[in-house]
Amino acid sequence: MKKTILTGIRPTGNLHLGHYFGATKNWVKLQDEYNSYIEIADVQALTDNFNNPEKVRKNVRELTIDLLSVGIDPNKATLFIQSQIPEIAELTVFYSNLVTMARLYRNPTVKTEIAQKKAIFGNDGESVTYGFVGYPVSQAADITAFKGELIPVGEDQLPLIEQCREIVRKFNNIYGNTLIEPEPLLSDNPRIKGLDGNEKMGKSLGNAIYLADNEEVISKKIMSAVTDTKKIKKDDPADPDKCMVYYYHKLIDNPNIDTVCSECKKGSRGCVACKKELINQMNEFLKPIREKRKYYEEHPEEVDKILKEGTIKAKEKAESTIKEVKSAMMIDY
Ligand code: SF4
Repeated sequence: MKKTILTGIRPTGNLHLGHYFGATKNWVKLQDEYNSYIEIADVQALTDNFNNPEKVRKNVRELTIDLLSVGIDPNKATLFIQSQIPEIAELTVFYSNLVTMARLYRNPTVKTEIAQKKAIFGNDGESVTYGFVGYPVSQAADITAFKGELIPVGEDQLPLIEQCREIVRKFNNIYGNTLIEPEPLLSDNPRIKGLDGNEKMGKSLGNAIYLADNEEVISKKIMSAVTDTKKIKKDDPADPDKCMVYYYHKLIDNPNIDTVCSECKKGSRGCVACKKELINQMNEFLKPIREKRKYYEEHPEEVDKILKEGTIKAKEKAESTIKEVKSAMMIDY
């Protein structure tokens, strides 16, 4: 029997190359090997966007279209909306007794994000909500509701899996063996750099190439990408490893990559021509994704049906888990 994996993504915007190469490309592969659940984590998105529900609502369908466009197949993976599974919220409440505030504040992911919020909003911590500090508990509920056995993560997300494992162990110790302790499925989730050379591509950084970008937008973005600053004239030799254009040529597997590299080093290639070549390559790379996107944009009822059917299937699984949990906790009246 195939093992169950659970992945999730917050609907706060479209997928960019960072999401694609860092996660979703791998999810497409994993859907063939595992019983795959993909959560559109709208409740988690609200922890940061509680005052902007329109944004989250709009992006549920947008993100689903992105996922279908990159190759997520609803016949292989169960796509569902987190908020429509109330059992996850119930589990979150039950688990909140099994984790201390001190432990949550020690979680490295929470710690870093709280520090960022304090830096933005001031040092009093008043901007940090109860829901935000508790999101690792809600993630434990996501994972255990579907008896997730393996969770595809990068190294930086390991603390969240460890927190979930601790909650599961505590639950099973107190109430009897009920929940499955998930294992991380460490994937090579490379962090993709932004057009400006920043180590991370991100929406808030304004340095991202989106899978939904049209040809005109792609052209503008690539023309603005950071190159080796030492190359002033067209025939100056340069170092391709200091150039984001070269970085993206490599990322999307330009078959001409060796020529790009040697011509750049020799100074026989101008940056404008090099960027134009990347624009063509990027459009070729995005072509099949755009074609699928266009289809789903023209058939929104199909997208909604996929989400509805996936959510029904996910709910059945979560209902069976909550039954076992309530029985173990002696609250199955
Ligand atoms: Fe970058 Fe190409 Fe210019 Fe070299 S020639 S610095 S790889 S854009």
